[in-house]
Amino acid sequence: MTEPPAKPARRATPRPVVPRAERRLIGIPVSPGIAIGPVFGAAEAPAPVIRHKISAADTQAETARLEAAILQSRKQLMKLRARLGNLPEDSQAEIAPMLDAYLQMIGPSRLVRGARRRIGETLVSAETAVLDETDSICSAILAMPADDDAAGLRRRADEVREVGRRLVRNLTQTPFRSFSALPQGAVLLCESLRPADAALLDPSRLAGVATDEGGSDGHTAIMLRALGVPAVLGVAGLGQAALPGETVIIDGVAGTVIVNPTAETLADARRAVTAFARAQQKLALLRRLPAITTDDQVIELQANLEIPAELPLIAQAGAAGIGLLRSEFLFMNRETLPQEDEQTETYRSVIEAMAGDPVTIRVLDWGGEKDIEALQSEGVVPEVTDDNPALGLRGIRLLLRETALFETQLAAILRASVAGPTRVLLPMVTTVGEVRHAREIYERVARRLRRRGEKLPETLPPLGIMIETPGAALSADALALEADFFAIGTNDLTMYTLAVDRGESDVAALYDPLHPAVLRLVQFAAEAALRLRMPVSVCGEMAANPKLLPLLLGLGLRSFSMNASAVPRVKQAVRAADIDECVRFARRVMEQSDPARIKEMVLGQP
Ligand code: PEP
Ligand code: MG
Repeated sequence: MTEPPAKPARRATPRPVVPRAERRLIGIPVSPGIAIGPVFGAAEAPAPVIRHKISAADTQAETARLEAAILQSRKQLMKLRARLGNLPEDSQAEIAPMLDAYLQMIGPSRLVRGARRRIGETLVSAETAVLDETDSICSAILAMPADDDAAGLRRRADEVREVGRRLVRNLTQTPFRSFSALPQGAVLLCESLRPADAALLDPSRLAGVATDEGGSDGHTAIMLRALGVPAVLGVAGLGQAALPGETVIIDGVAGTVIVNPTAETLADARRAVTAFARAQQKLALLRRLPAITTDDQVIELQANLEIPAELPLIAQAGAAGIGLLRSEFLFMNRETLPQEDEQTETYRSVIEAMAGDPVTIRVLDWGGEKDIEALQSEGVVPEVTDDNPALGLRGIRLLLRETALFETQLAAILRASVAGPTRVLLPMVTTVGEVRHAREIYERVARRLRRRGEKLPETLPPLGIMIETPGAALSADALALEADFFAIGTNDLTMYTLAVDRGESDVAALYDPLHPAVLRLVQFAAEAALRLRMPVSVCGEMAANPKLLPLLLGLGLRSFSMNASAVPRVKQAVRAADIDECVRFARRVMEQSDPARIKEMVLGQP
């Protein structure tokens, strides 16, 4: 039997497509490369809302949750509003009224009053109250006589829904994005991206990333660089400037985001993509060449590793081992803690992949921006942490309190260390006592493993410390007597020295690793190590900037660890450097006390 011929589909009357004008936004370039693709921004994971009843005894607690979510939502919106000042005037004029409407609705509005009332009157959870009130307001708006402005009514209802959605997300602590539906070649635009979210991105599918929030040396930025995804963070007005599906160009070097580019802009961007690829190919030729200065000083260039997916990039980049393995990835995006065997296998596979090149494994650096669900769900850290987590129970402080967690990780590293040269690195050290205490635990774990019959290297792997707080840098002479090596973490060192959040776009302009205060601390710490002929490296983002290399070489540093994609560019700078010249240059720089002058000398710009 043959099928009847299909009826020709009725053509819908084509609607005139009015292309929106090209719009240029500016942010912080954090990961080089140029991406062109459709905007992916709409597919947020739905917040897990189960509408449910509560008992009368719970109304107070539910109301308190609602008030906290209102406060959080207001803070988020005010932050977005405050940052609009960075936009061109026409963009501000378009976006500001929308944010003002949201802010009004999060104030003493019908939505907020209604949600509060519903909790007590109908005995429902805060989420249910918000959803029910949102539905009721939207139905009332849409039932109003449209006259000539049906679109206006729809827009008002959408605004109410948007505010309701934000409240529910904050109530359920649902992140603002999900990437499961990310189409191939799309550009991800979102308000903010947590480091743990960035770890879930698939760089082979994603063309680029831009966010409203974020700073240049925050962990999200580091993760995006590690993945080699072109990215611009801290772009004011971004969320309101682009619609899903529109074409966008991200320039991770210039820090621009261009929405709806004209044909001419698009052609320019395509040429820039080709030029960038050519430059990358040229740099790749450096892979097999040694990292050696013009006066024959051998410089160690290693890679930082955030997630194992980077291993092939490290091999391609020609890095001589891993100078900083951030072990947080093992603990992220999961609900249970990784056990000793699982950790051992992971470390062993990385060490084996390095085929004889050294691997420095940093023990867990929880805290600051690095929320780790598993630590919370297993009760290792409390569900609600301090208001000021960067100054709280971070890094070694947590490990010395939760010794079982620390011992499991040390045991795994020790067992894996038979596979190749390994070092152990302690994060967030501030006192000599912490190093001594950590070493006692380290040696105790080794003794226990030996008693258990585990094969360990005859000499235990060196135990070193991060110099990433002013306290550590200024006591580097004392710490050098306790530690086997130093790794200078210039990201946190800059943050803590200048009291500037490294991941915060609002203060990004103040985040300055070339500030004389930071440079003096780096110099003091480096000299303390060099006096004792103790190994010292730089593993913060400063190490990845070829323009900073002459200064760091001039301060006596010879070992650098950076995101793998930066290794070729830094190697090129090493091969052009002359140590005597670097020493003279560093001397001149260190005489300066004006950050602007130092920037001019080092970067060639004020
Ligand atoms: C640093 O602080 O410079 C560093 C390398 O550690 P992280 O970026 O992981 O905090
Ligand atoms: Mg750090």
